[in-house]
Amino acid sequence: MKTVIIASNNAHKADEIRNALNFEGWEFKTLREAGLESDPEETGTTFVDNARIKAQAVHALCGSAVLADDSGLMVDALDGAPGVYSARYASVDGKDSSDAANNEKLLCELGSVADSERTARFVCSLVFIDEDGTETLAEGTVEGKIGRSRVGENGFGYDPLFMPDVFGGVKTMAQVTQDEKALVSHRGNALRALRKKLLGE
Ligand code: IMP
Repeated sequence: MKTVIIASNNAHKADEIRNALNFEGWEFKTLREAGLESDPEETGTTFVDNARIKAQAVHALCGSAVLADDSGLMVDALDGAPGVYSARYASVDGKDSSDAANNEKLLCELGSVADSERTARFVCSLVFIDEDGTETLAEGTVEGKIGRSRVGENGFGYDPLFMPDVFGGVKTMAQVTQDEKALVSHRGNALRALRKKLLGE
């Protein structure tokens, strides 16, 4: 059995990864499941920089194959914010802030911005480092708009505010099942690209 450590304790990310990379003979463990602790400072200015920082930290710790995801929301009317700061957007101490606080801040920053100007995209960068140190990168995006209030109970992060264009701009990412999200999401697209690269398709 090949063990791949997911450089995260985010259960939503872990579920999405396990569903997409269901290779025979591979098992995925979150940091907690593997009994590891790793929380390097995410000092990068891009998603791929930060994914690499997280993947390299875990690989240096245990030498196993590692998969790191760094992802976030880029809002056009805010010049790409919250971007790489998505997890700590509403933070006052530099640490991750709650999803509710981040959502509230985003709604506040967008204030009365017109519907047509509320365009945004989720971006996901994946860095896979194999046992021998070989690195494989993949990226995915999904385009959409930011709503005016939180709608839906599923998913995490900014899902209740994000209305993907592919859902006709009327449903948020938090109103669909995990499988429906995976078909269109930034992480789903990045995982499909990574899957192709790892299988040499
Ligand atoms: P990371 O764990 O440092 O990559 O931070 C990712 C942050 O971006 C999360 O805390 C969420 O706020 C946001 N984010 C990333 N992916 C998603 C998603 O699939 N849905 C909603 N929010 C997301």
